Amino acid sequence: MVIECIEPVHPCDSNIYVVIGERTALIDTGAGQRPSELLARLDSVLRGRPPDLIILTHCHFDHVGGVRMLVERFGCDVFAGHKDAVVLRRGDDSVIMGQTIGVESRPVEVRDLFEGDVIDLGGHRLRVICTPGHTSGGICLHDETTGALFTGDTVFAYGVGRTDFSSGSPAELLLSLKRLSGLDVQGLYPGHGQLLRSGGMESIRNGILMMRDYI
Ligand SMILES: [Zn+2]
Repeated sequence: MVIECIEPVHPCDSNIYVVIGERTALIDTGAGQRPSELLARLDSVLRGRPPDLIILTHCHFDHVGGVRMLVERFGCDVFAGHKDAVVLRRGDDSVIMGQTIGVESRPVEVRDLFEGDVIDLGGHRLRVICTPGHTSGGICLHDETTGALFTGDTVFAYGVGRTDFSSGSPAELLLSLKRLSGLDVQGLYPGHGQLLRSGGMESIRNGILMMRDYI
């Protein structure tokens, strides 16, 4: 499995991960504010092979704003944790928060993911871990073969996600981090900032300590 990170092309963008197995997944889409730049970066990584699916770690605009444009371009299915999928299908901007950059949130066709679902990329399987706390429907994706963990805004290399947005909860975030600490985590691939190709468990342990102090 090859993991490429497309770093932000706009200050509001999340990281976008291109996960290449026999099938190719995009994890998150950025805010979608510089579509031509983003597509050029994607094309250089995809090399003519369109992604098979898009997985959204949660419903905030900086992770989902590019999804409509990418679906139009590639025609692939989109998946999200079931609670945030409801928000996305409604285009509920009170949770998506597109208005913070003056962008209208529009409904998106999204399929539900549930705890324990497996996305098979051929040779590699991403398991869905529901990790509420930053949003109520946030997910992480874990590859048990390599220990890679895609964390969205649940935990970063050096910090944890905010819990003061609509549908956030510090107590739930702490519980989610404790659950992640029971996995075999090597690489940590967060929604913002630096990724770690190894040693990701330390970020999770530090996140637990931070949240214990905060709560
Ligand atoms: Zn977020």
